[in-house]
Amino acid sequence: MGYTREVYQEAEEKMERRRIYNEQQLEKRRNLLFQRSPRAEQITYELAHTSILAARAVFEGAEAKTEIAKLKLQNQSLQKELKEILSKFGFPDNYLEEWHKCEKCGDTGNIDGKMCTCMKTLLRETAYERLNRISPLSLSDFDDFSLDYYSKIPVAEGRPSPYEMMSRVLAFCRKYAYDFSVASHSMIFQGGPGLGKTHLSLAIAKNAIDKGYGVIYVSAPAILSKLENERFSGKSNTENTEQIIMECDLLIIDDLGTEFTTKFSVSAIYNIINSRTIASKPTIISTNLSIAELQEKYSIRTISRIIGMLDRVEFVGSDIRQQKRRERKTVRNYNG
Ligand SMILES: [Zn+2]
Repeated sequence: MGYTREVYQEAEEKMERRRIYNEQQLEKRRNLLFQRSPRAEQITYELAHTSILAARAVFEGAEAKTEIAKLKLQNQSLQKELKEILSKFGFPDNYLEEWHKCEKCGDTGNIDGKMCTCMKTLLRETAYERLNRISPLSLSDFDDFSLDYYSKIPVAEGRPSPYEMMSRVLAFCRKYAYDFSVASHSMIFQGGPGLGKTHLSLAIAKNAIDKGYGVIYVSAPAILSKLENERFSGKSNTENTEQIIMECDLLIIDDLGTEFTTKFSVSAIYNIINSRTIASKPTIISTNLSIAELQEKYSIRTISRIIGMLDRVEFVGSDIRQQKRRERKTVRNYNG
């Protein structure tokens, strides 16, 4: 897949930082060892010296064979001694070599002129990060989700309380995140504002990222306007946002319905969900709107087709953000 020049540049910089880090770590290890064992420092110096001598002997040609054989023996015995020192301190044999994040390419990003898989992964991650930056959403945890804000009083006779219902939603989302795979089903989180939809979808995102999946979380207005810009400015070939959001392992679209609805945005939303469903890739959508409000915004046919592809998860209760604001006010008043 093609990426923009900025993505390549950012990924190259990250790779460069990896190499610098490797060098610094090696320097640290060397210093630590040489502090403990001056003999190890001496051996390292002698080893470097013998290889220079070996190179010189070849060029001079005079009795080169015997000379090289002698140096080889010398070299072997030094290596052996160094190994023994390392093992005495409990250090591994490769302690004085550079350690790489990717052993295949030694963190160069290339193998015989071909791009290494680690560089491909880095490019993909970088493209995702850049896309995730367009919506100001930060990842959250399940543990920070408090059920205290949900009433234990049933909304109607014989119906469960918001507290009970949200306990189930929380457990369901935890399990979804725990079992998450590219085969997970798609969902729509529905309910009024401030009921924790964004919180739980970002907690799922965090878990999926921790498991190594490529996750994109964006707000509907941000992603739709980006797609629209790319489509109509003819930049779609370089930016590739559409392809990136189609290919990611989990796509989270927050706040569906708050975007400015155009013919383009309606068909874009439908296409995203439809293409990802066909490719069996999970999508999570959250919206403050009811089915009737969605139908009004997008058309009954589009919404029923979209809803048909998603499992509905209902969020209930009263706006937590407002409750928290009220609490803060009360505390302030109480404190004078
Ligand atoms: Zn590599």
